[in-house]
Order: sequence, then structure tokens, then C-alpha cells
Amino acid sequence: MIPKSTVYNAPYPKSYGNEFTLFDHGKGCYIFDVEGKKYLDFGSGIAVNTLGYGREDLAKAAYDQMKKIIHTSNLYTSEATLLVADKLTSFGNFAAVHFGNSGTEANEAAIKFARLYAKRKKGDGHHKIIAFESAFHGRTMGALSCTYNPHYREDCGPLIPGVEFLPYNDVETLKKTVDGTYAAIIVEVIQGEGGLKCMTKEFAKALNEVCAQQDVILIADEVQTGLTRTGYPFACGLVDLNPDIITLAKPLAGGLPLSATLIPMKINDILQPGDHGSTFGGNPVACAVANQMLETLFFPPFIFEVQTKGEYLKKKIEELKAQFDCIGETRGAGMLRGFEVNTPSGYEGDLSKDLIAACKENGLLILRSGTNVIRLAPPLVITEKELDEGFDIIAKTLKNKLNK
Ligand code: PLP
Repeated sequence: MIPKSTVYNAPYPKSYGNEFTLFDHGKGCYIFDVEGKKYLDFGSGIAVNTLGYGREDLAKAAYDQMKKIIHTSNLYTSEATLLVADKLTSFGNFAAVHFGNSGTEANEAAIKFARLYAKRKKGDGHHKIIAFESAFHGRTMGALSCTYNPHYREDCGPLIPGVEFLPYNDVETLKKTVDGTYAAIIVEVIQGEGGLKCMTKEFAKALNEVCAQQDVILIADEVQTGLTRTGYPFACGLVDLNPDIITLAKPLAGGLPLSATLIPMKINDILQPGDHGSTFGGNPVACAVANQMLETLFFPPFIFEVQTKGEYLKKKIEELKAQFDCIGETRGAGMLRGFEVNTPSGYEGDLSKDLIAACKENGLLILRSGTNVIRLAPPLVITEKELDEGFDIIAKTLKNKLNK
């Protein structure tokens, strides 16, 4: 029997809800459910499928590698893994890459490396970490301790000690707070899950300065923003942030699980065998696909194309805002952008939530960020025509919801 496209009460934890759309396959920027309904994807599987669906080049890279070797463990290595490490360390002052399998693991590794550095360089009592209000860094205990939303954290305590939250983009508070007793500051250039607020250049400058002065490890969480999503190989380039560590994941292996924690020489120098590890990290198949991804994502004309498309996306959002009073602030950069949706008085329910559900009904997948921000993170290979198509659906759906 062919399954219906909506599945209820699947044997998954209730933390995922109880209703799932059963997808079957994708092609380019479209994804199809098992009943053949077609959706234009402005979410890319939460900023993962950046080169779109159904790619023969990625499938071939995975297939060829699977025939050669699927897993080596990190007692040994593979050519595919080495190649990715070479490509990633060729940017900036990175000496080494720790591979993991998810964004939260990449941040977990970053936190551990920063604490190991602080302990071995500065001694006991230098373990504190600064994170920021609205930040999202993951759901394992270390990364969760640096994630702001109380809903994710509250009942999981006690969390790891020594994490303090400061207001984002507040230069004065940052400068007043940071001293040499801190091990690390972890920060996003665009708060992907926290409402798409962008780091200011002044804040980036202050972060660079205080971290360099106090020998505090600056960790840029680029799990969502990295690898050309914002029109820069790393979003740090948007605001001239100079992190010691960059964490990457989502698009790195085009949808296969792979994350990377890029570390500088000064951290690599203090590491000892056994300090950290991962059974699957740097998996050869994921890395073979990542090599293929990076060939495109780091290709200068492609990066330029993403910048141009990002400007088009911005224009489309501004046009939409001009049509609807309920649209508030517009946020983001490059191909990670969004807009606030304010629920008008008299409207029953939450308009931003309803808009996401109704757009899906109408064949468009969009995301939420924070409480009322619609997040658009389409595949970077999307065309202007496809962007127009998606915005037509958003406008029609909003009109319908507002009875305009
Ligand atoms: N950091 C950021 C900025 C993220 O957006 C996410 C996921 O959305 C994570 C970390 C956690 O990544 P993962 O879900 O792969 O563990």
C-alpha cells in the first residue's frame, strides 16, 4: 500500500510533534511528497540542501567512495577526509579541523578545545564562557548550556557551569564584562534560530579586541551561516570578525552528516592524544560529498552569484513589506533573510505560524526563526524565476489569511 503523505503518531519522540509530511524525492529546488505533491523549498531542510535536490554529482561522489571504503575510524584516515581538511584550513589561520557529525557536536568540540586551552595556558578557574541572548548553539549539554531559549534549557539542568549570557550587539556590556578569567566567547554572526539579528561591525570589532587582549578564545558558530550562505565563504567576512575557532555543519556534506571545528595553531599546540574524538567524524563518504560541495561553494564566481541573488532576495522581501502592514523589520544577509510578521489586532491566532502552514498547503516551504520572524534560506542554486514564484505564493497566502 502506498503510504499517505501525512503520517501521524510515528514512533519518534514527542519532542518532534506528531505530524510529519512524508517526502519522497527532490529535484533542483523542488521536493515531492509520496503522493506526488510538489513544493518549492525556501528552507533547504533548514539551510542544509544548499545545492538543491537530486544531484547526480553528489550521488556519484558518495557511490564511488562507498565502493572504495565507507569507514576507517579516526585511528586511520582517508584521502577524501584529508582533502576536506586541506580545503577548510586553506581559509584564514586554521591549523587543523576536528570532524564531527552535527552542529551541536562541532560546538561541543569548540567549547572543550577552548577550556583545554584556558586550563593549560592560564590554569584553574579560567573556564567561564560568554554566550548571547537569543543564541542557538545546539542541544547536547555543552552547546545547550550556551543556548539562550529557556524552553530548550530549563528542565534539563543542571547545565554546565560557568556560562553567562550577555545582550547581543552591546559593545559597552561586552567591554565591561570580559577579562582574562574567561575561556571563550561563542557567537553567531546572524542569529539563525533567534530571529535573524545580524552582528554589527562595531560589535565584531569589540569582540576581536577584547578576545585578543585577554587571550579569550573567540568561537564563531557558523553552523547555519557558513559555506557561502551569506554570500561570503564564512559570514565572519560580512563584519570582519576574526575568530580563533569556526564551527561548520549544515551544508558541508550536502545533507550527509558532517561537521567541522576549525582550530588555530595555538590550540592545536596544547592538545594531547585522547583529548577529544569521534567514531564517525570525518567519515569518508560524507567527506567525498563535502569535497564535491566545496568545489562549488568556494568557487569565486559562485560566491559572487550568491551575493547577486541575495540582493534579489532582499528586493523581493522589501516589495512584500511594501504591500503588507503586518510585515515589520526585515533581517539577515545574502541568502539567509527574513521578515517579522506581526499579528494584526482582531486576527485570531499567530499569523506567522499560520503563514508557514498555509504556504505549505500552497506548495511552498518556509521556516520560522525566533518568535515571529519568517526565515528564508532557499538552495543557493535557486533562480530569480523560482524566487518570484515563491514570493507570489507568500503574497497570495498572506492576502488570503488577512481577507484582503
Ligand atoms: N548552531 C547553529 C547556529 C544552528 O543553527 C544549529 C542548528 O540549527 C546548531 C548549532 C545545531 O546544529 P545540529 O542541529 O546539527 O546539532
